[in-house]
Amino acid sequence: MNPIFSTLPTTVFEAMSSLAREFGAINLGQGFPDDPGPEDVRIRAAEALRDGFNQYPSMMGLPVLRRAIADHYARHQGLDLEAESEVMVTSGATEALAAALLGLIAPGDEVIVLEPAYDAYLPLIRQAGGIPRIVRLTPPDFGLDEAALRAAFSERTRAIVLNNPLNPTATIFPDTDLALLARLCVEHEVIAICDEVWEHLVFDGRRHTPLMGLPGMRGRTVKIGSAGKIFSLTGWKVGFVMASPPLLRVVAKAHQFLAFTTPPNLQEGVAYGLGKADAYFVGMRRAYARSRDRLAAGLRDLGIAVLPSQATYFLNIDVAPLGFADDAAFCEALVREHGVAAIPVSAFYSQDPVRNVVRLCFAKSNATLDAALDRLAGLA
Ligand code: PMP
Ligand code: GLN
Repeated sequence: MNPIFSTLPTTVFEAMSSLAREFGAINLGQGFPDDPGPEDVRIRAAEALRDGFNQYPSMMGLPVLRRAIADHYARHQGLDLEAESEVMVTSGATEALAAALLGLIAPGDEVIVLEPAYDAYLPLIRQAGGIPRIVRLTPPDFGLDEAALRAAFSERTRAIVLNNPLNPTATIFPDTDLALLARLCVEHEVIAICDEVWEHLVFDGRRHTPLMGLPGMRGRTVKIGSAGKIFSLTGWKVGFVMASPPLLRVVAKAHQFLAFTTPPNLQEGVAYGLGKADAYFVGMRRAYARSRDRLAAGLRDLGIAVLPSQATYFLNIDVAPLGFADDAAFCEALVREHGVAAIPVSAFYSQDPVRNVVRLCFAKSNATLDAALDRLAGLA
């Protein structure tokens, strides 16, 4: 038999979470909240489970959820989606990304990726036979360089993957960058695969602008969302894809052979949750912003440099002054010697990584954040 091996990498989230378990560390690495999520949403899903929502639901998702998704995005982002032909439910945003990339990318197609990039993009693009064209973003603002972006487009560009708000940088692309992206996509007839899972977690009065709403983008955008982020229920793995009917039909073809469906009781819970009053979404943002401020203030008191966190439930620190070889060495020492797990941002670059930035998750109770800060004392 030939040797059995995989060319796929091990995700940094699994690598750091297993180190966290091994060393009994406080896990501020992999992003997940430590609160149980909204009780009414969980009860709705539990009731649905009890009431018999247990067989395969339809491949595109429960009609009640598809309707709720269309209504939700009309209310929050002014999008006019037709539930029956433009909305599909997936098993998490991860499956949505896989279905979009495996469905839309053919061997030899070029796909523009902005780095640092969420770690699922490149392996999926490569599995589809696509050729990544990287545009590099750098701290402190991780802004888009117009010349570099323009240079990445060619006659073979099929798609661009845009993650906005951006994980791991915790930044939001300004509207001027989105307008430029839209103009280039229209000019080069390129599809935008927009991973907008962090759309509700934007702070300090900011608003999320969906690329799909920009001129010329309605028919060329595949928009991806995640109930895991909207309801702090990351283990549910309920995601959504929204696109014009011709694009969605292609993405749905791939979905047939990936997950096919998503647990129906969880779909019921999410359908209920998406209809929650605005106060829920405002309250969630406020609570996360308070946690962000608590961790940021604690880190600054310790003399650690904190980068701006405009969105997501992450904040980044600059570890250059702390005397380690790089961000990976810092994270190794942090988990082994100080009992705190974090994510080195270099893991999100395939070329010429930025090596001085480390990502911390603040979606934790005050007690957990304070305990982590105690363990970090003496680093700076
Ligand atoms: N995309 C991004 C940018 C993410 O941060 C995450 C999860 N943190 C996902 C996709 C995956 O979402 P899900 O858990 O719904 O699969
Ligand atoms: N998206 C989460 C993060 O950025 C982790 C998801 C995962 O573990 N694959 O931390």
